[in-house]
Parts: sequence; structure tokens; C-alpha cells
Amino acid sequence: MSRFSRIAELLYPRHCPVCDRLLSGNEPYICRDCAKNVKWIRGPVCMKCGRPLDTETGEYCDNCRRRVHVYERNLAPFSYRNEIQTSIMRFKYGGRAEYAAFYAKAIAAYGQKQFNLWKPQMIIPVPVHTKRYIHRGYNQAGVLAEQLSKVLKIPAREDLVLRTKNTRPQKGQTPIGRRQNLSGAFCLAGGARIPKRILIVDDIYTTGATMDALAGVLLDGGAEKVWAACVSIAPGRS
Ligand SMILES: [Zn+2]
Ligand SMILES: [Zn+2]
Repeated sequence: MSRFSRIAELLYPRHCPVCDRLLSGNEPYICRDCAKNVKWIRGPVCMKCGRPLDTETGEYCDNCRRRVHVYERNLAPFSYRNEIQTSIMRFKYGGRAEYAAFYAKAIAAYGQKQFNLWKPQMIIPVPVHTKRYIHRGYNQAGVLAEQLSKVLKIPAREDLVLRTKNTRPQKGQTPIGRRQNLSGAFCLAGGARIPKRILIVDDIYTTGATMDALAGVLLDGGAEKVWAACVSIAPGRS
């Protein structure tokens, strides 16, 4: 390790994005133990939202069988549980924006095949309302989009869509409540030019209501296909 990178490390210590332990110089993104043990989603997943399926017979999860989604397809490398859930909580509320570098690598590795097929022209993070932005200091989806942009070499834009309503947190609401909560939540920025193929990114996929609302606005604004990628997806029924 060079003297300067040692100094950089002292000034900006990097933490393992999964267990939060301080990383050593030869652990660039994730600590050795977590690299070995972190649980990626494997096996059959829902053809729409990317949630792991219990059986190999169906193509869609219960959620996607019951409702039509506006977006094309979502993918997520991890289930929102255990160590990944804790990690995302720190990323969102504990000031660990640095985790985004690992999350982006994980999404890119996991979705490599799909991204090659989809060929998105632009990455758009799920916007947060300005009030929450100020409260937290950053939009976690925006930080993630920036990192994913670097890895996939696709431009990311955070300023094309605005969150118009400061919606109540989605957590704990029923699926119908989530949809109502989000209707009219997003709008295009004045003069925004939307390319045809868009990839939306966020940290957690729950029911897909956020993705649908945002995809709807993008499709109205001229997009033809909108896909989604999230760090994690809530398991089971929701
Ligand atoms: Zn770790
Ligand atoms: Zn599904």
C-alpha cells in the first residue's frame, strides 16, 4: 500500500458493507469472511420482480401473479433479510454511503446477462423528496446510481424526475395503501428528455409500487422500456 493510500485510509476508513468491520488494504470492497458467506439469491426467481420462488413450477411469485406491473423486469442480488437488511439500514440511516460501491458491483455482477440484453441507455435513481434529502444528507438511491453508472458505464441522472409529494414511509402499509400513497408522487423535471431504455435503481424492492409509479412517469415522458435493479428484495408475500 502506498503512503498516500494509507493516509486516505486513515482519513476515510472504509468499512465492510456487510458486517461493518474496518477493511484492510487487500480487501477492496468487502471483508474476506463476508465475501465467503454473504448469501446471493440463487435458484429460480420470479420472471417479473426477481424474488426467489419457493417452487420451480411457477414463473411468477404470488405478488406478480396478482397484479400487472408497469416496469419490464426487476433484479436484485440479495434478499432483504439478515446481514443484508442490517447493511441497508446502515446505508440508509447510518451514514454509510460508502457501501454503494459494493452494492453496485453486486448488482452489476448478478445482472450482467440481463444488462447486456436490456441495453439501458440511462440509470435513474428513485428520487426522494427534498425534505428527506436534507434530513439524510444524500439520496441513497442517487449514490447507488452514481456507483452503478461507473461500473456499467451507463450515464446516471438524478435530476430528470422529481418527487412531488413527501409520501409517508411505505413501510408497514398495505399494498393498496402503498399504491395510493405513491399516485402522483413523481413528475418529470421541466424540459427533461427521457431516453427510450431506462434502468431504475433503488435499495429495496418490496411490492414494486414505487417502481411502477416511477416507470409510469418515465413511459409517459417518452421511455419505451423501463427495467429496475435493486440491492435487495423483500422475501415472501407482501
Ligand atoms: Zn464483513
Ligand atoms: Zn414477482
